[in-house]
Amino acid sequence: MKIVDLQPIPLVLPLPEAFLGGTYVIKARNTLVVRVVTDDGVVGETYGGDEDLYQDEIVRVITDYLRPMLLGQDPFMVEALNETMCSLPIDLGNRGLHALDLARHAIRMQAIAAVDIALWDVLGKAAGQPLYKLLGGFRETLPVISIGGYYSKDGSTTALADEVAECKARGVAGLKMKVGRATLTHDLERVRVVREAGGPDFVIACDANQGWSVADGIAFGRAVAPLNIAWLEEPVAWYDCVEGLRRVREATGLRVTSGQGEVSRQGMRDLIVRGAVDIINTDVTMVGGITQWRKIAGLAECFDLTIGHHEEPQVAAHLLASSPRGGYVEIFANRKRDPLWYELPEHPPRIAGGLYHVPQGPGLGLPLNQEVITRCRK
Ligand SMILES: [Mg+2]
Repeated sequence: MKIVDLQPIPLVLPLPEAFLGGTYVIKARNTLVVRVVTDDGVVGETYGGDEDLYQDEIVRVITDYLRPMLLGQDPFMVEALNETMCSLPIDLGNRGLHALDLARHAIRMQAIAAVDIALWDVLGKAAGQPLYKLLGGFRETLPVISIGGYYSKDGSTTALADEVAECKARGVAGLKMKVGRATLTHDLERVRVVREAGGPDFVIACDANQGWSVADGIAFGRAVAPLNIAWLEEPVAWYDCVEGLRRVREATGLRVTSGQGEVSRQGMRDLIVRGAVDIINTDVTMVGGITQWRKIAGLAECFDLTIGHHEEPQVAAHLLASSPRGGYVEIFANRKRDPLWYELPEHPPRIAGGLYHVPQGPGLGLPLNQEVITRCRK
């Protein structure tokens, strides 16, 4: 089997309202479709990533560097292809102000990830197996929660109870809510509102989006503990994301989640071996794709960590379902926050009774709606 064509197709869909997280605002859903055509008729077609600033650069890396390298290659040699993509000389201009040039590295790794995930879709389709079974299947369903609990513009908490009701109506088991933007007192009150609305069995996680100092992370973690949260995500600012997380984890006894900001398996390695996290939420669309994800997951399993994920559940569910340590799948129960998850697949995955049913078709098992691709094409 040989790759005869590879096309990146950037999509953007403005959201009907802005969503305020711990440290950011989301106004549009961006993503990247990658279509891989092979000489025996198998076509991989996946989507993932939510990059606004650097989307054009990611497309350029795929078009100018990765595509020429991949044409004529055997997609089943995916380890070799990923290794070559990681070491390929790619000109991304002068080095930036950031000491680690992180944006440039992230552009490369997102481009590789988009291609790599589409290659794995090809492998699943060629084998006639859903991706999670190709990776070594562990289970067909996963517990699922919603990402939400964004901040209202007027600071009120009244919408939170409605959001809990929406989660229950959608059949998800809980809510991962935003903290880190307001005062600690107000954030605690917001969690209290969700606990009261959801009841004792409703799963609550808190995501600060790197919004706090270590001291604030510890203070919030100790205060929120009686409200029984499943985990505290990215409690510490970007410059202290290994040692600082470890300190919060040890001081609060809470399960700490991080990893979504890392773009390399080596960054994930450091989180794992230095005791910074209980749950790693790798973003497979950021770290170089499924080929890199497998190495991270293997190391995390050796340390008995839970394997979470960051966004793009259409890919992540297969990955979590292939691991004995797979945790919650996360979706957006509010359709306005991620309209593409509902519209882009011809048939979105089934969610019911707090469980996400992993699609059983070959590859990702999610044929994409071509009308939506045409309509949202950048
Ligand atoms: Mg997060």
